[in-house]
Amino acid sequence: MIEVDVIVVGGGPVGLSASIQLSRLGVRHAVIERTTVVSPHPKSRLLNPRSTELMRLWGLEQAVLDVGVGIEPKFFFGKDLVSPWDQVFEPAASMRDPLTLSLSPCAVAGMLVSQDVLEPILREAAAGYDTADVRFGWEAEVIADGPDGVEVRATRIGADKADVFRARYLIAADGAGSALRRRAGIGVTGADRTLEAISVLFRSDLTKIVDSPAAFFALCNPDTVGTAVIAPVDAHGRAALLGRPKVMDETPLDQIDWVAELRAAVGVPDHEFEIIDVRAWRATVAVAESYRSGSTFFVGDAAHLMPPNGGFNMNTGLQDAHNLCWKLAGVLAGWADESLLDTYDRERRPIALYNAAEAVRNLKTLVDKDETGRAAMFRRDHYVHPGLALGYRYTDGAIAFEPDQSREADWEVGTYAPSGQPGARAPHLWLDDAQETSLIDLAETGFVLLVASDPRGAWRAEVDRVARAEGVPLRLEIVGGRARPNPEGRDFSALYGVGLDGAVLVRPDGHVAWRAGDQGQARQLEVGLQAALWGGPTAQELRRWPAPA
Ligand SMILES: Cc1cc2nc3c(=O)[nH]c(=O)nc-3n(C[C@H](O)[C@H](O)[C@H](O)COP(=O)(O)OP(=O)(O)OC[C@H]3O[C@@H](n4cnc5c(N)ncnc54)[C@H](O)[C@@H]3O)c2cc1C
Repeated sequence: MIEVDVIVVGGGPVGLSASIQLSRLGVRHAVIERTTVVSPHPKSRLLNPRSTELMRLWGLEQAVLDVGVGIEPKFFFGKDLVSPWDQVFEPAASMRDPLTLSLSPCAVAGMLVSQDVLEPILREAAAGYDTADVRFGWEAEVIADGPDGVEVRATRIGADKADVFRARYLIAADGAGSALRRRAGIGVTGADRTLEAISVLFRSDLTKIVDSPAAFFALCNPDTVGTAVIAPVDAHGRAALLGRPKVMDETPLDQIDWVAELRAAVGVPDHEFEIIDVRAWRATVAVAESYRSGSTFFVGDAAHLMPPNGGFNMNTGLQDAHNLCWKLAGVLAGWADESLLDTYDRERRPIALYNAAEAVRNLKTLVDKDETGRAAMFRRDHYVHPGLALGYRYTDGAIAFEPDQSREADWEVGTYAPSGQPGARAPHLWLDDAQETSLIDLAETGFVLLVASDPRGAWRAEVDRVARAEGVPLRLEIVGGRARPNPEGRDFSALYGVGLDGAVLVRPDGHVAWRAGDQGQARQLEVGLQAALWGGPTAQELRRWPAPA
């Protein structure tokens, strides 16, 4: 029997991200992944700015930049690639002004980093920590599951070898159709409509036909492809035909001549295509009715599925893992209450439902055959969505909400308005002229109290006292003199909505837990921290807190 604190079943992008985050928090764990090699099919393509920020925190940003492509997607709507376009949209055009670029230390528009090049980076990183026992080529089976923990038998595939692991918690990152979720009897909402679709990965020099090869081509031609999208994969000529081309209704999948279909779709009968891989998939919405069952937590595709339109699913999954892991670390280390773990569901399920609704909207827009309808509906934020990626807020959970604060999911998809209100991702400001260190780099493995200044040392004294009293990793960062104002001239106090001697408590996942308008509220730090450790304050406590100036 091998004892660890957490077992992660599934070493796809989300399970591996959970592993990296657990290791950085010092949690001993095992990752059991069935496959030994990464699928050549790119599947997810877009790494959104929040996910890129996670790569930055994990020291992987450069590795990802080395294989990624900055995106400036254009959307062309037409019959094929040679006829005049019906419509052209350029949603990224608005992403180049200094204010937009200042929203994140990473690429605000996101990057094209297909899953087949991202996963090897995550695999190597996850396996590089001493805290992790990472096993590729092993099958996991839960053999015991109770209030005190789980037991998992890991069997080496193709060999007569098995180990049994025991852990306090299990992270189910076992992908779409999660056997672990079904074993727990947890249903999904929203799965009433499913589109059986295809992804045809090919290599082709589209520059021979179009000027913008790394663009999205939404094709609608009843005589050839029907309705489908050609989407870019990388800068080396790989792209994919996605959707449900008409031929799928007429010919069995294994008899389709995809080169002929692609030639007809682009409108050039002798254009060269090399088919790399063909993968059937299902575009559906399915969000688990609960993200927790006893000691097991569901993350990534095991928790939610949504159509790929907009590229939300994997990104949502990476952020699930980031939300869950510090909570597990806190409970295992004894500085957080077990009830904190229930806030994983309360915080993350609403985000999945919101993102899934947006993905469905994007899908409907792309397949709308009516040009006027398309023009009215087309989301300029399709694929470029800093509001959805950076501006989402937790509206329930381990947050000291302010009494007059909206608890609705009222952020916009395409526009991110930085905000220091509780529940939001702590906004970015550079801490040096060289633009090397960001405010968002300061919180990762513990809580941090950000203050512009600490004139009478009241914040320092309170941080020391509370950290001792609660036994929590908490430190003070005085950032007023260091944080560079954004291009609008908004400094730390203005951006975070606190006074010059106010403070902002940031959780280990970079979300604001509590803020105080001035030093007079220093004694309330402990209550704010407790809200982030116990899963939210009581109504009585809320009434005592005036909103910050
Ligand atoms: C054709 C296609 C196109 C897609 N396009 C997009 C897109 O454009 N944008 C987007 O955001 N998403 C897209 N997706 C979805 C994206 O691929 C997923 O969201 C992402 O892979 C989720 O990661 P995950 O780690 O949760 O699950 P997965 O990547 O499915 O990983 C789960 C892992 O668990 C392992 N596993 C399962 N059970 C066991 C077990 N018992 N023992 C050991 N290992 C086990 C599996 O081998 C697998 O590696 C696409 C998917 C497909 C199939």
